[in-house]
Amino acid sequence: MSEKKLKFNSRTIHGGQEPDKAYGSVMPPIYQTSTYAQTTPGGHQGYEYSRSGNPTRTALENSLASIENGNYGLAFASGLSAIDAVIKLLEPGDEVVSTNDLYGGSYRLFRQVYEKYGIVFHFIGMQDASEIASYITDKTKLIWVETPTNPMMHIVDIAAVSGLAKKHDILLAVDNTFATPYLQRPLDLGADIVMHSATKYLGGHSDVVVGALVVKDKELADKLYFLQNASGAVCGPMDSFLVLRGIKTLHVRIQRHCENGRAVAEYLAKHPKIEKVYWPGFEDHPNHDIAASQMDDFGGMISFVTRGCAYADAIKIVESLRVFTLAESLGGVESLAGHPASMTHASIPKEEREKSGVVDALIRLSVGIEDKDDLIADLEQAIG
Ligand SMILES: *Cc1c(COP(=O)(O)O)cnc(C)c1O
Repeated sequence: MSEKKLKFNSRTIHGGQEPDKAYGSVMPPIYQTSTYAQTTPGGHQGYEYSRSGNPTRTALENSLASIENGNYGLAFASGLSAIDAVIKLLEPGDEVVSTNDLYGGSYRLFRQVYEKYGIVFHFIGMQDASEIASYITDKTKLIWVETPTNPMMHIVDIAAVSGLAKKHDILLAVDNTFATPYLQRPLDLGADIVMHSATKYLGGHSDVVVGALVVKDKELADKLYFLQNASGAVCGPMDSFLVLRGIKTLHVRIQRHCENGRAVAEYLAKHPKIEKVYWPGFEDHPNHDIAASQMDDFGGMISFVTRGCAYADAIKIVESLRVFTLAESLGGVESLAGHPASMTHASIPKEEREKSGVVDALIRLSVGIEDKDDLIADLEQAIG
């Protein structure tokens, strides 16, 4: 049966996979090799050097393409190296319109690395997709979207942005790290490129740093493959294996992340010491309708601000948590808490940060898949 006919919860396990040809091993072996024997120059079995291709990486790339409803997957050494390959499609003078509330490392790559090469970035709020039009010029070649945004949980209407991008012949790339394809499939909504930090939910166990791109179009895939091989930030065989293993349980993990996320968000919203909770599942979230239409559920990422907005209160809470671990990153089975202003978003200037709501008192939670009663009890003792 063609695996394209399988439903999502089967494709996480079988998508793009077949038992290994050598011994029938059900999981792809970790082909820990740099090179491959040839019978005559050029006489090889599809692999000649592991930067250009490795069977374990191919297995992961096929799985990624399958779960994102794309045709081609590319696995990189990190999420940022995947983004780096996308920006390298551009020429000096080209312009990019990006969401303003985005992963700090993406912002740093755009501003501190690529502006130097003459690429111009505009950072704007995209909750109202029509706002984007006024930033589009004949130099605009790429729209970069994160949704839900990090850490403010704004939602961008992917189909609306895609309509605009198509009208002006601009590439649309969506960072789907927060939602994962279990909740949201940007290629189906008209995006050209889906990007992942597979370090997060796809890997799911906080044990690996990997990035990914998925596209439908062959010509675009060829260009990105050229850049992946030319620049060389590829995903290694062991890391490919770990992410593949993670993807096999993606659907069951995300289900529990969503369930626990809802419980924690509702608990926080009722807490007298909490001023504001940012979670797209709430009906009064400003973009709830779009979230409900383009996502299948609302995920386990939540941000909140304590009443009075004091920096010291936020620090005291994150330091007092015992089940939640104070750490960078997100998307693993264990619950993490972060303080964006001093951690993930420290590379964004305070003024720029606060414009998008990342105030000093903001705390971001990646709600894991532990028992939700333990998570709520932990927050209760930390918030006091
Ligand atoms: C972590 C992250 C990245 C960067 O990925 P790395 O794997 O850390 O290089 C990009 N976007 C988002 C939304 C992230 O959370």
